[in-house]
Amino acid sequence: MDRADFVQLLGQLACLTSRQRTQVRHALDKPVGTPASILASLLPGPCACPHCQAPAGQLRPWGRSHGLARIRCQACGKTSNALTGTPLAHLRKREQWLCYGQALIEALSVREAAQRCGVASTTAFRWRHRFLAAASSHRAAHEGGIVEADETFFHQSCKGQRHLQRRARRRGQPAPHWERVAVLVVRDRSGHSADFKLQKVDAPHVAAVLAPLVDKDAVLCTDGARLYKTVARALGLTHRAINVQRHIRVVDGAFHIQNVNAYDSRLKAWMRRFHGVATKYLENYLGWRRMLERYRQDISPGACLREAIGRAQFQHLMPT
Ligand SMILES: [Zn+2]
Repeated sequence: MDRADFVQLLGQLACLTSRQRTQVRHALDKPVGTPASILASLLPGPCACPHCQAPAGQLRPWGRSHGLARIRCQACGKTSNALTGTPLAHLRKREQWLCYGQALIEALSVREAAQRCGVASTTAFRWRHRFLAAASSHRAAHEGGIVEADETFFHQSCKGQRHLQRRARRRGQPAPHWERVAVLVVRDRSGHSADFKLQKVDAPHVAAVLAPLVDKDAVLCTDGARLYKTVARALGLTHRAINVQRHIRVVDGAFHIQNVNAYDSRLKAWMRRFHGVATKYLENYLGWRRMLERYRQDISPGACLREAIGRAQFQHLMPT
């Protein structure tokens, strides 16, 4: 249920008689179905055949299998269900997925999530990255108006790898700059967010990610780093550089990079709980944080599931 409908429903509760109130209380206390049946009702079916991409008109109901509705494609004759071809296909213990969705919302550690859902830690770890695989690519497709961009850095981490290509760092030792991974965070004033792991912090790499993202008539706000000046000129964007080192925070009343800096701070503070994330999974964690920011208080285990199978409500993700 979306937020507006829910607020309307709450408003209507005031009109209930005392008998109706008791009935509502009883209905809320009663389980509304098994976890598996609730899950099945939350998973939207595919919009096209996952095997041959035939449109939805070619798909016909074809019984049930493993608790999920099965459909058959008239074009290729193959059957599928809501999970076919998604990162969640073939995973077991589906009845715990909503519980796991809640663990994602609370950003529980692997061990805590495993305990909460009654699964092994190895399962909770596998689920984390399967659930986040699709979300890691869900980012704003266009940003316009005043667009703020800034880079932030994470330690390169080989967590979980057995053979290090470099000497191990001592705990707490700062990483040299060549052992840091740069992430470019881009936000506009409508709250559309995107971030990108950069291979290198230079004008060509930054321009490559900003070119398809930022509208041509947007104003790009960045710190005073010269590379952004080069990028803005190359892309034909109006550029406002904020000289943060001289303690200038806002230029002409509207141009600043405080939104993107606040996002960086929230991201860094949230990531601290993981005690360093393996660089090979960094994009999954960035996508996880974007998902939490995108939905804010409207996030639900069902929304996490739909993100995981790539059938989220795209109006949240890809503004026009
Ligand atoms: Zn087909």
